[in-house]
Amino acid sequence: STASLSRIGLAGLAVMGQNLALNIAEKGFPISVYNRTASKVDETVHRSQSEGPFALTGHYSPRDFVLSLHRPRSIIILVKAGSPVDQTIAALTDHMEEGDTIIDGGNEWYQNTERRIEQVGQKGILYLGMGVSGGEEGARNGPSLMPGGSFQAYENVKDVLEKVAAQVDDGPCVTFIGQGGSGNFVKMVHNGIEYGDMQLISEAYDVLKNVGGLSNEELSGIFYEWNRGELESFLVEITADIFKVKDELCGEGELVDKILDKTGMKGTGKWTVQQAAELFVAAPTIAASLDCRYLSGLKEEREMAAGVLKEAGLVEGMGFVKSGVDKKRLIDDVRQALYASKICSYAQGMNLLRAKSFEQGWKLNLGELARIWKGGCIIRAVFLDRIKKAYQRNPNLANLVVDPDFAKEMVQRQAAWRRVVGLAISAGISTPGMCASLAYFDTYRRARLPANLVQAQRDLFGAHTYERTDRPGAFHTEWTKLA
Ligand code: NAP
Repeated sequence: STASLSRIGLAGLAVMGQNLALNIAEKGFPISVYNRTASKVDETVHRSQSEGPFALTGHYSPRDFVLSLHRPRSIIILVKAGSPVDQTIAALTDHMEEGDTIIDGGNEWYQNTERRIEQVGQKGILYLGMGVSGGEEGARNGPSLMPGGSFQAYENVKDVLEKVAAQVDDGPCVTFIGQGGSGNFVKMVHNGIEYGDMQLISEAYDVLKNVGGLSNEELSGIFYEWNRGELESFLVEITADIFKVKDELCGEGELVDKILDKTGMKGTGKWTVQQAAELFVAAPTIAASLDCRYLSGLKEEREMAAGVLKEAGLVEGMGFVKSGVDKKRLIDDVRQALYASKICSYAQGMNLLRAKSFEQGWKLNLGELARIWKGGCIIRAVFLDRIKKAYQRNPNLANLVVDPDFAKEMVQRQAAWRRVVGLAISAGISTPGMCASLAYFDTYRRARLPANLVQAQRDLFGAHTYERTDRPGAFHTEWTKLA
């Protein structure tokens, strides 16, 4: 009987799938689950019993799974991005019908989603590529969801998505993003911004530890304090927690100091930087954070370089700084530098989204994107509400730093920001993210740049012509004859 059919299905029961399935079930939507390997189905059913019991049923074949769903059917896929998604779609669509919906919740390259929209569309099946952020915890208790593709498909699952998403003061953290692969693209840029935030926080840590001489205990306290002000965010909060955790394995000190300084990555940051370059959008803070991950991977080379340069006479760290540092002032300066740097990083991400939206005709609503990032996701932060308001005030805002409110904040913080970057440079502590943000700000805000000289050089050796400041037209000069 149709009464026993499930409202929705979820295929792919690793970390994300299992937790999202339990979240959906907990919100009162009867759900069917399926996974290629049967043991994960059993695990999920078991968890549903112990955490619920919820209306969740496990299925061991694609056919049985699909036929357990209410029509029109809606199925969320959460498997490894790339060909596993294609294989899962092939297995499921054999049993699906016109009007049914597939929602891929993986970190997928947006063009793969566009290809699949076409492909399943030939069978009359609707498709969404949906960014899901918030990791395991978010999936279980309320993620930020970024669905893009077929609007009808969104309408088919809107009630479920709005209930399972994180809830903030101005609604659930989900909205229809736009056509095509826009949902995946927005999630990709979200991850690029996440790279930037994490890099900037690690630089604040580096400066406070290696210039200010702060202990892990002090660092934890400072991050807790920062989390009660304008920097209040998930990443600042978890950072405060990290500094407190003792090393259980060998007993002494904090775990953070025992972790190898090599950062992993899965590709979304690289894609973000590649897309920025393709679209002629400057994203130096996000690019710097990606470069830092690459350089962090060269652990042995860095150790060798440290040795060679020490031999050559290089003095480590504070050896460069003549006078001592005022710890209290440094802490306050770093807080301001972090905040100002972060604004520049978000400005870059938002401008990349706008450029892509324009290229693709997605009509992305930047204010709405800032809103759905306020809860559930890794970059959730109090200041996203201010970004939302800035784009609501002016949807055509050229850059966040020229929003009147943010402009004021940038100006108020710039002295502290320059002190931190200057001090770090003097001390030989690299702060590539903060430097990139500051250079971005200084380059963007200057009415006149030395680009005139570059253009003159281009005209001299390549006859590329130049424009003049005082009259219209393209000019070429025989520079070498006149020199
Ligand atoms: P994952 O490790 O990326 O993938 C494992 C899942 O994929 C398992 O269910 C596995 O099934 C299935 N799978 C792999 N190859 C398959 C194939 N050829 N055919 C059918 N199924 C196949 O899982 P995850 O970490 O939960 O992530 C799922 C998606 O969400 C990914 O795109 C990921 O990038 C994205 N995401 C992850 C996080 C996170 O915090 N982990 C956050 C946001 C987004 P078997 O059990 O049969 O091997």
